[in-house]
Amino acid sequence: MTGHDPYHRAVAENLPRVVERIAAAAERSGRDPGAVRVVAVTKGHPPGAIEAALAAGLRDIGENRVEELQWKAPLFEAEPVTWHAIGHIQRRKAAGAARLAALIHSVDSLRLAEKLSRLGVAEGRRIPVLVQVNASGEATKGGFPAARAPDEAVAGIARVAGLPGLRVDGLMTMAPFVADEPTLRATFRTTRAVLEAARGIDGVEGRELSMGMSNDYETAVEEGSTMVRLGTTLLGRRPG
Ligand SMILES: *Cc1c(COP(=O)(O)O)cnc(C)c1O
Repeated sequence: MTGHDPYHRAVAENLPRVVERIAAAAERSGRDPGAVRVVAVTKGHPPGAIEAALAAGLRDIGENRVEELQWKAPLFEAEPVTWHAIGHIQRRKAAGAARLAALIHSVDSLRLAEKLSRLGVAEGRRIPVLVQVNASGEATKGGFPAARAPDEAVAGIARVAGLPGLRVDGLMTMAPFVADEPTLRATFRTTRAVLEAARGIDGVEGRELSMGMSNDYETAVEEGSTMVRLGTTLLGRRPG
């Protein structure tokens, strides 16, 4: 147990504050705090971090690399974990992500979407995904471009949603890491506007908005996030 104790302590200390801040942010914007899910992002941490998150009652666990998902998931086969694939996925790793993740947040290109759809069709199911949108215009961010106008991304989303092996549950975005509050807010607001614009497209089934990380989740919740992806503020800094 010794190796796990720091993580149990960290989550026990940090989770109540996070939950409180999510509730306050939801209330500020007239939303139901219960409509926001916490995805504990355990990338770069040992399995003890996942144990601690589970012990604290969290069930949604996010990994950004498929390889890491692949070695960690079998360790928790007996646990009620809902795995989330949140990082860029190379097409040759798509099958691994589709097999293990309950939700893939990071469908950032039509080619990846097509690959995943073929897997879904072969398995006779629709793989639950979020379409990643680049709402900030940063060249380093992946996703369907939406920074100039929300409508820009809608055609791409429609093509993804039209694929027979996918179920589009909503959208995901990443805000610029170093940004002032108005810029963060604009990124989240644009993403929500894209989802509004994509509403009614055949195959866009869900209303999920995966937005908000440790440094910006309160703003994201104010702007409609239904899933915040939290690593550092829950677990502390990643080792190494
Ligand atoms: C690492 C990561 C996070 C969590 O980052 P923190 O700043 O540690 O909360 C969220 N989303 C994605 C896609 C990530 O890769």
